[in-house]
Amino acid sequence: SKRARLDRFISATKRVSRKHVRVLLAKGLVKVDGEIARDIDQIVDEFSHITLEGEVLQANTPIYLMLHKPVGVVSATVDDKHKTVIDLLSHPDKQQLHIVGRLDLNTSGLLLLTNDGRWSKRLMSPEHKVAKLYRVSLENPIDASYIQAFHEGMYFEFEDITTLPAKLEIVDPHTALVTLMEGRYHQIKRMFGRFRNPVIGLHRISVGEIVLDSQLLAGQSRVLSTAEICS
Ligand code: URA
Repeated sequence: SKRARLDRFISATKRVSRKHVRVLLAKGLVKVDGEIARDIDQIVDEFSHITLEGEVLQANTPIYLMLHKPVGVVSATVDDKHKTVIDLLSHPDKQQLHIVGRLDLNTSGLLLLTNDGRWSKRLMSPEHKVAKLYRVSLENPIDASYIQAFHEGMYFEFEDITTLPAKLEIVDPHTALVTLMEGRYHQIKRMFGRFRNPVIGLHRISVGEIVLDSQLLAGQSRVLSTAEICS
C-alpha cells in the first residue's frame, strides 16, 4: 500500500507538473533516503524519506509494537465506554498505529500494532494462513471428541463458511491450546459453544513466529525486534 512512482509522488505533493518534476530530478534536487534520485520511475513507499531542495516532503518511520492486552480494554483506537489499547501505549506516535488482528474485550494476550499497512496485511490476509495460538479456559470439562470437531471445521451459518482445520490440544480437563489459521468473529467462543461449553478465559500466546514476551505484564508493551518483524 502507498507505493508510488517518485515523479507522481512529487507532482501530487508539490502540485507541480510531472514535466517540471523531470527537471527537478535532472538537476539532482531530489533525495530519497539520503541519495540523489534521478529516475522518474523509482518506486517510493510511505516510509521513503523524500526531500526536495532540502525541504522534507515525507518522513515516516515504521513502528511495530507488541502489547500484552489486559482483559477489559477494547481493541480499537477510539471508544466512548472503555479504555482502548492505544490509551495503554506511551509511544509518541501512537496515534498513527492500527491494530493487527483484534481481540475481544475480555480476551487477553498478544496484540500487535503498527503503522505499516503492508506488514499488517501480510500477517492478517487469509491467504497467508498465519497461525494464532490461544490458551482457553473452559467452564465444563473437555474431552478428546473436541479434537476431531475442531479439526473437521464447523459450519457458521451467519457467514456461510466452514472454519479451517483448527488444532486443539488438551492441557487439562478445563484448559486447551487452540491454533487457528484464521480469525472469525468470536471464533473460539463460538466453536466451544457448539459443545455448550462456555469459555471463561481466553489468552493469545502467539501470532505466527511472534510470541508474547513473558517479561511484559498485562498492559505493558515493547517494540518488536528486527527478527520478529521479519519473521
Ligand atoms: N476467538 C474469540 O472468540 N475471541 C478472541 O478474542 C479471539 C479468538
